[in-house]
This record gives sequence, C-alpha cells and structure tokens, in this order.
Amino acid sequence: MTPAQNALIDALSGQLDAKSIVTDPAEIAPWETDWRGRYHGHAPALIAPSSRDEVSAVVRLATRFGVPLVPQGGNTSMVGGATPPGNGSALILSTRRMNRIRSLSADANLAIAEAGVILADLHAAAEEIGRRFPLTLGARGSATIGGLVSTNAGGTQVLRWGTMRALVAGVEAVLPDGSIHDGLSALKKDNRGYDLNQLLIGAEGTLGVVTAAALRLAPAIAARGVAWAGLQNPADALALLRRMEAATSAIESFEIIPGDSLELVVEHIPGTRKPLAGTHPWHVLIEAVSSDPAAESPAALLERLLAPALESGLVADAVIAASEAQADAFWRIRDSLSEAERASGPAVQHDISVPVDVMPRFMIEAARAAEQRFAGTHATAFGHLGDGNVHFHVRAPAGTDRDRWYAEEAPGITRFVNDLVVAAGGSISAEHGIGQMKIGELARLAPPGRIEAIRAIRRALDPAGIMNPGKLVTLAPGNEAP
Ligand SMILES: Cc1cc2nc3c(=O)[nH]c(=O)nc-3n(C[C@H](O)[C@H](O)[C@H](O)COP(=O)(O)OP(=O)(O)OC[C@H]3O[C@@H](n4cnc5c(N)ncnc54)[C@H](O)[C@@H]3O)c2cc1C
Repeated sequence: MTPAQNALIDALSGQLDAKSIVTDPAEIAPWETDWRGRYHGHAPALIAPSSRDEVSAVVRLATRFGVPLVPQGGNTSMVGGATPPGNGSALILSTRRMNRIRSLSADANLAIAEAGVILADLHAAAEEIGRRFPLTLGARGSATIGGLVSTNAGGTQVLRWGTMRALVAGVEAVLPDGSIHDGLSALKKDNRGYDLNQLLIGAEGTLGVVTAAALRLAPAIAARGVAWAGLQNPADALALLRRMEAATSAIESFEIIPGDSLELVVEHIPGTRKPLAGTHPWHVLIEAVSSDPAAESPAALLERLLAPALESGLVADAVIAASEAQADAFWRIRDSLSEAERASGPAVQHDISVPVDVMPRFMIEAARAAEQRFAGTHATAFGHLGDGNVHFHVRAPAGTDRDRWYAEEAPGITRFVNDLVVAAGGSISAEHGIGQMKIGELARLAPPGRIEAIRAIRRALDPAGIMNPGKLVTLAPGNEAP
C-alpha cells in the first residue's frame, strides 16, 4: 500500500466498522478480474461502506489523500469497467453492503433501491406488490442497480421500455468532493438546469458513486407467450418484427440468434436443447406479454401472428412454448450465448449499434468482410435486432493460443469492425459502455468535440481525478492505452 492509501485506511478505520475495510488479498482477488477474465487488476484494499453517508466519508477522504477509487457492483461489466488498474494505485469501493430496497410503491409505480441491490432481487420484490421492473439481462443474478445505472444498461426489453435512461426516475449519488446529489424525489417536471441524474446515468463511475436510484415500475404481467422461430436471414427477421408490431403492441422482446451460436449453447451448456427439430441459419426468440387477464393470451396472439409468416415462407418453422418451464428453457438459451462462447474458446466481442434498417445487411456483410480479412476466424452477431444493437463477435481460429491471440490479433480485428460500424453510422458501444476495453477506440473514433466535452465535465466534477481512473476517457489526451 502507498503511504497515501495507508493514511486513508487509517482515517477510515475510525469511521467505518471492521467489515467495511477488507485488506486480505484472498478476499479481494475475485474482484480484481473482470467477468470475462480479460482484465486483471490489483487493489490493496476493498472498501464496502453500508450507507450513503459512509460512501460520502470514503470519497471525501479519498479526495483529500489523492487515492483513486474504482466503484464496483456485481463486477459483470463486459468492458473491464469495474476492474482496478494493475499497479495497485486504486482501491475498490464495493456497494455490496448497500443492498436495501428503501421503498416500493404501487401507487407511485416506483421503487427506491440502493446501489448494491441485485437486479433479480428487485424483480422479486416488485412482483410481490403486483408490479415489475421491466429491464432484464443475462447477468441479473449478479448485476446491481448501481452498475446498471452507471452503464445505462439495456437488455432484452429495451424494444418496449427503453434503457436505464428511460427507467430511472432519479439518482442519489456521492459526488467526487464527497457532497451528495439527492435526485430521488422523482419529479416528473424539474427544469432546474442541467439534469444531474442523466449525467450520472452511463457515467461508468467517473463522476461519483451512485448510492441509490428511483426506478419506474410497470404493471405485473398476467401472462406471457414465448415463441422460437427459425428463418433464413436477419432481413426476414426484421420484416417479421415489423409485421408483428403493426398488429400488436404486446411484443416485448425480439432477439436474433444465429444457428451456429445455438449449436455452441447446446454443446457447452448442460441441459439445453434445440427448440426446433430442423436446422436453420437464423432464429428469433419472441416474447409477447399482457397485463390484462381477460385479453387474448399472448401465446395465442403469437400463434395467430406467426401463422401467416409460416404460410408465406417468411418463417421456416416455429414453436410456441407450451409451459412456463419451456419458455424459461428458450430464454436460457438466449441468456447462455456469452457463457457458451466463453467456454468454446477466445473471441473478440463488439457491442455495437447501427440504424435498425441497416442492421440486417450489416450483420451479413460485416461478418463476411471480417472472416475474409482475418483468415480462419468465425464472425457472428446476435442480440437485440429491434434496437439496432447486436453483439458482433469474432471467434479465433480453432486451436489458437488465447493470450497471444488477444494480444496480437484482437486489436486489429476490433479496429476493422469498429471502422465498419462508424462507416454505417453506428456506435462502438451500444449498451456495455466504454470501460477500459474501448477507451482507445473511443478516442480514435469519436468526434474530438465529444471527447473534449466529456473530459471537461470529468475535470470539473473530479479535478483530483480519483473516480475510476483509466476508464471512459483519460483526463489528458493521448494516454489511452487499451
Ligand atoms: C452474462 C451477461 C449478460 C449481459 N447482458 C447485458 C445486456 O443484455 N445488456 C447490457 O446492457 N449489459 C449486459 N451485461 C453487462 C453488465 O451486466 C451490465 O453492464 C451491468 O450494468 C453491470 O452491473 P454491475 O453491478 O455488475 O456493475 P459492475 O460491473 O460492477 O460495474 C460496471 C460499471 O459501473 C460502475 N459502477 C458500478 N456500480 C457503481 C456505482 N454504485 N456508482 C458508480 N459507478 C458504479 C463501475 O465502476 C463500472 O464502470 C451482461 C453481462 C453479463 C456477464
């Protein structure tokens, strides 16, 4: 530990209980590596305050002693956003003990949840009052509200409900000087200048520590229908979505999955099996929901809407889940795509968006271009077609040495893919954020004015540069080692 870190820990031990300060390397170790195992950092201590005021004390003292902090929730970041730097210069500030749901109101349709509340726990709590929080993703058993706010997370219900930006009604946060921003009142109308809540959403821990959020709830679902369809290409998938949307507003999720990704899941994830008997180049997973028990059942609705698509050949085959267990099994396939790929070997991932109408062609042409340019690789894209956001992955040739490939090949592949994305008018980060993984590419590709504005905001709020260093943008240009 540096002298400044020692001084900080000494000062904190007078203010926090023993459980809040962890210095045992074995206990810290799991939190020093990211979910994908791509980034390995080092933090001499992990601080886990249990309240907003304790977070404020930690941040105030860290600023005074000049000790950087890395806010961390569930550590499921896909871009190394919550992994500390490797040189031990920063401490982890974990929100894991701030896990209370402060209030849940069916009348206000709001939940106020602390930063460390796990998404799945919020789902369960909302259900108990006949409501739901309409955002979900594969990491829901670990991802926290603070992390979801700070990455402006998306997931599989954005089509209907939007990203966290649309679902967060207010944010409570400790700013880098230790002062508190209390935006939890969730006013529908509030025009007192800049919107600090929105500034903190998607800030990736660079502007302060989110300590709680007011979250919009939706009516509970009375019934859902889940369908799995096999089809020829992404263009047909988008055409199907548009036809369905023209007939109903009940479509909540519409996920596209390539045939080879499905094969990987079946191979690597125990207990999974293909929903359809035949083999299809592409698949879509569709969920329709209803909050009205008297309305046509969503399963019947899906059947009615899929019938003409099957007849016309737009869809080759389809099955409607016959039970909740089968619906869960379909979703398990979708949620296991990243895990199955991780088990199958090295891959370089790109969470990208392009305009929705451009996406079907982009998925095919960019994959073909990447495979031609990088011999032996396999490129594939899956995800949120209706949002114009897919996870575009390039898998290494079979038998590749993982570390060498990541060090020598992956950066060139990423530059190639990102150039295609920018040429198509898209974004190199649709929902995962920038973290440390994309910091160099953001600096290379974003318009200079945008980067400078982000830097100026960061400098203004955090002049000592203590919040999540080395993520999103560097304070000084030209220092963005990926
Ligand atoms: C299997 C899997 C599937 C996923 N699917 C999706 C998906 O569909 N859509 C999607 O958007 N993401 C997805 N993700 C990414 C990830 O789940 C989200 O980025 C999530 O929001 C991270 O939450 P977390 O609590 O794990 O945050 P962490 O990983 O701990 O942190 C993420 C970032 O937020 C910052 N941070 C965390 N807590 C705070 C806080 N309280 N205050 C300030 N900053 C904070 C960290 O410093 C870091 O920059 C997926 C991840 C996995 C592993």
